[in-house]
Amino acid sequence: MQEFDLHRPKTVAEALDLLAEFGAEARVLAGGTDLMLALRARPGLKLKTIVDLSGLVELSFIREEGDLVKLGPLTTMARVAQSPLIASRAGLLAAAAAAVGSPQIRNRGTIGGNVANAAVCADTVPPLVALEAQVKLERRGGERWLSLPDFITGPNRTVLEPGELLTEIAFTRLPAKAGWGFMRLARRQAMAIARLNVAVVLDRDGEGVVTAARISPGAVLARPGRIAAAEEVLLGRRPDPALISRAAAQVGDALAAAGRRWSTPYKEPAITALTERAIKQALEVDWR
Ligand SMILES: Cc1cc2nc3c(=O)[nH]c(=O)nc-3n(C[C@H](O)[C@H](O)[C@H](O)COP(=O)(O)OP(=O)(O)OC[C@H]3O[C@@H](n4cnc5c(N)ncnc54)[C@H](O)[C@@H]3O)c2cc1C
Repeated sequence: MQEFDLHRPKTVAEALDLLAEFGAEARVLAGGTDLMLALRARPGLKLKTIVDLSGLVELSFIREEGDLVKLGPLTTMARVAQSPLIASRAGLLAAAAAAVGSPQIRNRGTIGGNVANAAVCADTVPPLVALEAQVKLERRGGERWLSLPDFITGPNRTVLEPGELLTEIAFTRLPAKAGWGFMRLARRQAMAIARLNVAVVLDRDGEGVVTAARISPGAVLARPGRIAAAEEVLLGRRPDPALISRAAAQVGDALAAAGRRWSTPYKEPAITALTERAIKQALEVDWR
């Protein structure tokens, strides 16, 4: 294990001052379940200064303001998974958080760390994209808000600049009668990073016609996003098994179009099947 200077700010203002002072040489530490592993696994990753966020209780929260649901980045996966507010306003996020790692990992790993680490298979990212979440990036003397597809630019890459800290994740609660689905595929049920995952949100009118569709797969595109072609298949129609299959096939096509690799013959039918199941799960809700 390499040596580094460790700072433990007590307030966000103090953390922003430290990040401004140390700039590109500083890295923030939340739960450490990604960063500590990276430090061990990648000897080339040299860190001079670590800013440990664990003392920033002000960054651990889940609250509702009007139609907005707001989460602090230091909120653990366990808390997201167990929150009655998240379960009732954005159940797909609770389902994704509950699927992460193991109880130990969920007690330590944070939602901010999951998003900022920007792994293609991060379980909370597709639900947050389907919820059209925005992230708040603060630096000393300023802030900006970005959507997830604008924040994450590629595998383990974000637009976070030296001096910036992710301080909030916010989204509009789902309409009361909207349905959602979240599915993931991993080599085991627990303690296994997802190979693929997908989040679906569907809203229907009183006739059962789809009025809103958001389909966001993980580990399919190089950066987070939705599959408009799949959503368009469902929009304005009453879903039946053939229509659901057609929509799901668009996600398989998007995976193949993103670049054929050795895993494509396995992943293309797998993401198609996962999407089909997630759409069916979203349709289980009584919309009338
Ligand atoms: C055994 C094991 C199983 C796992 N299983 C899963 C799984 O099933 N699904 C899944 O999605 N992930 C999984 N993970 C990965 C990891 O647990 C999650 O990504 C977790 O949410 C990371 O959060 P953290 O607080 O530990 O982040 P950290 O490791 O502390 O940080 C991760 C990265 O984000 C940056 N960062 C953290 N917080 C902020 C912030 N507020 N502002 C700016 N940058 C920040 C850090 O600098 C670092 O680059 C697993 C990890 C392990 C070790």
